[in-house]
Amino acid sequence: MHSKQDKKLKILWFRGVTCNGNTHSFLNLPHLEQLLNRFEILYHPILESTLSLVEITKLKDKCDIFIFEGAYDPLMRRNEVLIGDIVTHYAKNAKHIIAAGSCASFGGIFKASAPQRNSGLIFNEDVEYGPLQSYKDRVINLSGCPIHPEWLSYVLGMILNKKEIEVDSLHRPIELYSNLAHHGCTRNEYFEWKVDADNFGEKEGCLFYKQGCRAPMTHSSCNKILWNNVSSKTRVGTPCFGCTEPNFPLTNLFSTKTNMSIPKDVPVGISKRSYLTLTGIAKTFYIKRLEGKLIDYKRDN
Ligand code: SF4
Repeated sequence: MHSKQDKKLKILWFRGVTCNGNTHSFLNLPHLEQLLNRFEILYHPILESTLSLVEITKLKDKCDIFIFEGAYDPLMRRNEVLIGDIVTHYAKNAKHIIAAGSCASFGGIFKASAPQRNSGLIFNEDVEYGPLQSYKDRVINLSGCPIHPEWLSYVLGMILNKKEIEVDSLHRPIELYSNLAHHGCTRNEYFEWKVDADNFGEKEGCLFYKQGCRAPMTHSSCNKILWNNVSSKTRVGTPCFGCTEPNFPLTNLFSTKTNMSIPKDVPVGISKRSYLTLTGIAKTFYIKRLEGKLIDYKRDN
């Protein structure tokens, strides 16, 4: 017999307009089973659940943690019930509301395809908008396309342990989003000395100037909490697309916007003038060690 203390928190995971990428990412969490064993899954579109979609849309149940994946489209229906009624009912009763992914947080990819219609739960890009304005104090935005499974695990763990989750002005947990994706990238030395990568997938060079890397302008812990515990996009030679930021997706993801060869955006917190001064100085050096292939590097160089 379970005491009151043993009662598991109920998670209800609902989806709006989505590719299910956050679900797929979360299913890769190494300790998924142990984590989920500590909750009751009231409803999830893929995982084994206590209730069916039909039962959920009767709006008779309540959950403790309401997770929403995908963009919010006010005209969407599930089982003939307007999604707005479903979202409001469960959010109103939940102690915690989690927007899983950039679409649920800021509109993301699906806002870009229907800007007048789709949004996040409490933001359209960085403007307050969306169905849950009345409950926004309880909303945690986990932006990312998709989210790292450990980010959701962190939030659920904090809730389980009754710890407060501090958030930034966009409702993202500070612990996960105070870093830039640039922090921890193995290419930082190339960034400092302005040695650019000419192609994708190479081990050498920084992807900022020639390949469109947005990491110096993007708040995320992708190079701190590594993907699959071993890697990140920039580590394998693919630029960061800035998917955790409200303006995602930008166009021309693989190129750096410039004006007279000067990058339109420079690293967060640095003035364009300072950036240009530093770049000018760095470019005057020729560091042989950084110009060749890493694998060819000889100690006497
Ligand atoms: S590749 Fe991107 S993340 Fe890595 S050092 Fe260059 S700008 Fe920073």
